[in-house]
Amino acid sequence: MSTALAGGTLPVYRWRLAPDGLATRRQLRAMGLRPGGQDVAAELQRPRRRRGPLVAYLYRIDAAMPVRPMTPGRRAALARANRARRVCPSCRLDAGYVIPAALGACVPCADSD
Ligand SMILES: [Zn+2]
Repeated sequence: MSTALAGGTLPVYRWRLAPDGLATRRQLRAMGLRPGGQDVAAELQRPRRRRGPLVAYLYRIDAAMPVRPMTPGRRAALARANRARRVCPSCRLDAGYVIPAALGACVPCADSD
């Protein structure tokens, strides 16, 4: 796969280029899922100048387990929470992905400081 970088034993993908079917623990949680004992499937790395890369671990969504049974009300609450998590606190725009806690802003905002 052309987006994969040379790495250790795990496939490593560039930030925001994770393949379909994989999600971070935080993203799983937002879907009401947990890794469920599976091993880490891949790593996401976001290179940073003068520091080590930000690393996020990816899990297989199809192997994840539900945190607890999903109900329509719970699903709606999760959808609202997810929308809120995608809004960058700096530029107030929907980034289209959950704002990484390690960045605290969308990637363009985090890159500009
Ligand atoms: Zn932003």
